[in-house]
Amino acid sequence: MQMLLKGDYFNGRFSHPEGTSALVGVQEKILKTCPGELTLNLWEAGVYYEHTEKVIESAQKGFDAWRKLSFDQRVVYLKKYQEAVRARKDEIAMALALEVGKPLWEAKTEAAALDSKVTVTITDSLERIKQETIKDVMPKIDGHVVYKPLGPCFVIGPFNFPCHLANGQILSALLAGNSIIFKPSEKTIYSAQLMIECFHQAGFPEGVINFINGTGQTAGKITIDKRVRGVFFTGSRGVGLRILENTYKDMGKLVALELGGKNSTIIHHDTNISHALPELLRACFLTSGQRCTSTSMILVHRKIEQEFISQFKSLTERIKVGHPTKSADPFMGPLIDQHAENLYFEFCNFGKQEGAEEIVSPRKLDIGFEGHYVSPSIHYAKRPDLKGKFIQEEIFGPNCFFVPYDDIEEAIQIANCTEYGLAASVFTRDTEIYKLCLRDIDAGLLNLNRSTVGATARMPFGGVKNSGNHRPAAVSMIDHCVSAVASLETLDDNSSKITDVVGLKD
Ligand code: NAD
Repeated sequence: MQMLLKGDYFNGRFSHPEGTSALVGVQEKILKTCPGELTLNLWEAGVYYEHTEKVIESAQKGFDAWRKLSFDQRVVYLKKYQEAVRARKDEIAMALALEVGKPLWEAKTEAAALDSKVTVTITDSLERIKQETIKDVMPKIDGHVVYKPLGPCFVIGPFNFPCHLANGQILSALLAGNSIIFKPSEKTIYSAQLMIECFHQAGFPEGVINFINGTGQTAGKITIDKRVRGVFFTGSRGVGLRILENTYKDMGKLVALELGGKNSTIIHHDTNISHALPELLRACFLTSGQRCTSTSMILVHRKIEQEFISQFKSLTERIKVGHPTKSADPFMGPLIDQHAENLYFEFCNFGKQEGAEEIVSPRKLDIGFEGHYVSPSIHYAKRPDLKGKFIQEEIFGPNCFFVPYDDIEEAIQIANCTEYGLAASVFTRDTEIYKLCLRDIDAGLLNLNRSTVGATARMPFGGVKNSGNHRPAAVSMIDHCVSAVASLETLDDNSSKITDVVGLKD
């Protein structure tokens, strides 16, 4: 697949359309190789810092026109976009697989989600921001709540789901009447560009859709601009914190943060082990553990710990790690880059230093292609260091660790010991235990007999504590794309009398 970059997109055009070089007059270059085949250069992108001003101006212009369209008119554009992503889903999947390193079968599920998300946004999200009328909210007065768009909104994406996550935020923002500027991760520019090409194909009015390539510096400049009224960020806790620090004085700017996780699963003694094992295997190691909802801690009841861990270990050792597009159906591909690979081994070492036993050690793998291939690993700790780095920090690699427990309160306490609160799950046949977990575990997502991965777009998706700032994405993303205006209405313009005013001199 040839990945031809077309530059940034504003005023309805790419800055370097096909045939021209995207690197003329460039201020910085980003070189991308396939993480599963380092000899395969995918693209070289140009960063143009002066384009930040151009995309903001364009988004401002786009907003002025787009906000005046009705929901029905906006839906027509969204459906045209849906047709375009549906037609190009295989191309998008291939780009995702090569850029991120996720297996092609998995990349196809992300590409397909772009299409289905359009439907969910129109059917489920839109209802939440339609005008509401309260008849006779006061005597002879009706009340209306009208939801107005914010203005130009800036969507900043992570590398692990380059299209799907931004797509959800962009669609909600657009349907609500905002224009958008999208900056994808600098590691996954081409997949993101394909999405923008689909918006272009759909014929959105000029300036409604904007796209900029760049690094944190580019994102930082746009984030703090006064004209940008919404910042929708998905990424790491550290960058999320920086965004809050940079924006808190601009009180009218809405900042929605979807951050990392350190997710736990509780395996109770009455669990159907053969159901829990495949669920958990996928939750820990899919996407090489590079999901915000990946399961990291497994709290297993002491009565079944030996049996459960030994079966989980055997399955882990059977995991096929392979090239994202050239191996036959691997379970997982490589890590995203050298930095991620180094961090993975470093974190596993913290585990050992902090007293955890390595049940399956992490290894660098040689699969016949030069890439960031590592094996999944498992740790075990009878009494873990709850304040240690290994337990507290997100690893973002294929590692999980087991901790045994005797009673459910103890398991819940350990699950709550981290500063994150994104996803958790419990496997049990006892609904009282489920209710207890639902009540007491600090997490934005909590599943029964389902792992922490695989959320639905039809329910809110977001975390508590350091996993987000109470602005969940998915169906409820649209709530953060509007401001509510309360309006009292009376058609009786003869009901107010000067004699009713108290405190006037005769
Ligand atoms: P990252 O935080 O390193 O980068 C994310 C984006 O932020 C990139 O586009 C990057 O260019 C940009 N950025 C960097 N500096 C910035 C700054 N100063 N201001 C504004 N933007 C800046 O994250 P990543 O490595 O791409 O993704 C992995 C992280 O994302 C993990 O922590 C993962 O848990 C999290 N994540 C969360 C969710 C969720 O929905 N909660 C989903 C996916 C990933």
